[in-house]
Amino acid sequence: MSARTVYQMKVVEIKDHTHNIRELDLVAETPTEFKFRAGQFVMLHVPQTEGKPLLRAYSIASDERRQNGFRLIFKYVENGAASKYVWDLKGQETLQFTGPFGKLFFQEPPTEQIVMLNTGSGISQHLCYLLSKKDQYPNLRYRLLFGVRNQKDIYHREILEQLSKELPDFKYHFILSRPDGGWDGKKGYVQNFIREFGYTETPTTFYMCGNSAMIKDTKAILEEDGVEKTKIWAEAFD
Ligand SMILES: Cc1cc2nc3c(=O)[nH]c(=O)nc-3n(C[C@H](O)[C@H](O)[C@H](O)COP(=O)(O)OP(=O)(O)OC[C@H]3O[C@@H](n4cnc5c(N)ncnc54)[C@H](O)[C@@H]3O)c2cc1C
Repeated sequence: MSARTVYQMKVVEIKDHTHNIRELDLVAETPTEFKFRAGQFVMLHVPQTEGKPLLRAYSIASDERRQNGFRLIFKYVENGAASKYVWDLKGQETLQFTGPFGKLFFQEPPTEQIVMLNTGSGISQHLCYLLSKKDQYPNLRYRLLFGVRNQKDIYHREILEQLSKELPDFKYHFILSRPDGGWDGKKGYVQNFIREFGYTETPTTFYMCGNSAMIKDTKAILEEDGVEKTKIWAEAFD
């Protein structure tokens, strides 16, 4: 299969997690197999009334060992072409994709500690790493910070809770930038909490995904603390 192969993928499940987060489960119709490596993305073809489709990138959120399809997590962008297309779906449609693309793989052999920082729909890439690698590397120290604005933006708590039961040393926190009253968890921005992870003593790899401002600020802190560039991996969605 070449990068030009257009995959016809059927929407077999639509899950609305929050007011602006939608997840799709897609199964390959033709070709019947879709192979990728954890960390890669696909291009969704958004049909236009005239001319070529628009292409939009989405990181795969499911286990790389599954070869008949994948899951994608979408964050709604106001007046966005792909956003409108995806939120108009009812299920059972056939969508077109090309891919997989990207080289932001899980670095192997892994370091003792893995820190994942994400915002919005950036959890997609990190879920893919965790689901794909948990059986091969169960004993790493995994830390994940998930930045959202408010309590109503929290999702995927169940899957993160399940992972924290399966993995002996996996901890996650939601960080809320603008919580409503009654939130006794962490408040602020993801980057404000990274120094808790003791990365100057423990060999650590950082993966960041989502908002470019979070990525930029976090990189500045890590560089100030002398973390090697080869230990910092990031994918900006905006
Ligand atoms: C490698 C890669 C992987 C990605 N993976 C994901 C993913 O897993 N899930 C996901 O939801 N998105 C992901 N994105 C972003 C995605 O490709 C689209 O850019 C996004 O869905 C908006 O597309 P749209 O067609 O709806 O909006 P567009 O029609 O492209 O944009 C509409 C308007 O919104 C602005 N805009 C565009 N994107 C954003 C944004 N993210 N935040 C705020 N304003 C914006 C534009 O400047 C424009 O004014 C990824 C991007 C890259 C580069």
